[in-house]
Amino acid sequence: MSLYNLLRSSSFQIGFPLLLAIQLCLSQEQVFSLLASYQELVNVIPYILFALVILLSQPFNQGTTGLVSLLMLVSYYMIHNWLKVPLDDINKIIFVLLATLLPLNLLLIHALPDKRILSRFGVTFSLFILLQLVWVSILLQHLSAIDISWLWQSFLKPLPTLSPSPLMLIILSFFITAFSALILLCREQNSDQIIFITLLFTSVMLFSFNKPLMPALTSSITAILLLISIINSSHELAFIDQLTELPGRRSLEVEIKHLSGLYTIAMVDIDHFKHFNDTYGHRTGDEVLRLVAQLMSKNKGRGKIFRYGGEEFTILFKGRNANQCMPYLNNLRTRVAEYDLKLRDYSLRKVKGIQLKGQTETVSAESVNITVSIGVADSISESIPENVMKAADKALYRAKNGGRNRVTNLRFA
Ligand code: GH3
Ligand code: MG
Ligand code: MG
Repeated sequence: MSLYNLLRSSSFQIGFPLLLAIQLCLSQEQVFSLLASYQELVNVIPYILFALVILLSQPFNQGTTGLVSLLMLVSYYMIHNWLKVPLDDINKIIFVLLATLLPLNLLLIHALPDKRILSRFGVTFSLFILLQLVWVSILLQHLSAIDISWLWQSFLKPLPTLSPSPLMLIILSFFITAFSALILLCREQNSDQIIFITLLFTSVMLFSFNKPLMPALTSSITAILLLISIINSSHELAFIDQLTELPGRRSLEVEIKHLSGLYTIAMVDIDHFKHFNDTYGHRTGDEVLRLVAQLMSKNKGRGKIFRYGGEEFTILFKGRNANQCMPYLNNLRTRVAEYDLKLRDYSLRKVKGIQLKGQTETVSAESVNITVSIGVADSISESIPENVMKAADKALYRAKNGGRNRVTNLRFA
């Protein structure tokens, strides 16, 4: 598994924040003593970090991350300025409101569309958050006269050995966090991870809010992880092809700049793909591109695969010459040619599609095959990477002219 795939896997996306949260809980005493003399500064850091995430979310089109950060900023403000430990009656009300409203708002953001903060939707939701803050402060004024200590003795009874926060609320917030982890496991969307991270550290914060610096630390870690997520998403947008999930042209250009020594470049091009699109539709064509990418990833023979553009792919083999790559490339060509694309009827839409692995829709009897032509060149005959690319392109051209469905090594063409 490549590093990119590892970082993207849901087990890493759940495992890493979870380990971080456990580590924080286990080593909180050491962290507090380390940061004890910087308390003022540590308490201000979440404001700076969340504000930074909110600002960056706009140009990077990460609306969900922006709204989550705004919500966390407001919540942190409440905890930092309103909650005084140990909790008196009024603080208990604040705590209960916070512990219920925060996860509910996070779930709501998750369910709503991913729109920038500076959009009609984003501004409306931001106002909704501020409205809740105003509502909480008005409610507090009204409730301050009422004695709710009985609630703390019954329904919201804490388990003092565990945490000063009510057991019921701890269970609820960890249950919601586990639920969001489950969604992340099933869907693996960027917004799923953002919500999971925030819910996880919110739970830790609610669990140990009475410990010095704990709200500031959990909030700062959340903000840093959100910041990393923004950077990561924009990196993906720039370097990863959305359709095939392979590294795209820009990745190849970066990789090529750093090439030296022995290497081989293969250009793979689907044959008569225009005709395929014209016959079976663009959507089926897209599925074929994904299928070819899957076949290549499964049989990559220690090469790195890129989507060069359109229906062309590039494979880069480091430390090997063209001859050494030929068996793998011929194997790939045969596998593609032998793969029966089962046409699926999208009966309602009157278009056809192919059946990809894992899809269980009924297939019609019709099946088609596609072929690829491959041009290969290595750094033995050419020294500049751009020229090796050009040579591989030339070899591809010869493979096409030679009748397609073949691999042409420029040295022997
Ligand atoms: P050849 O065997 O010479 O390579 O012929 P070809 O038809 O494959 O080559 P040509 O360059 O004429 O056409 C490439 C086609 O690939 C045109 C375009 O419709 C299709 N194509 C490019 N990108 C995509 C894409 O992202 N999705 C789909 N479905 N089709 C694409
Ligand atoms: Mg082409
Ligand atoms: Mg083609």
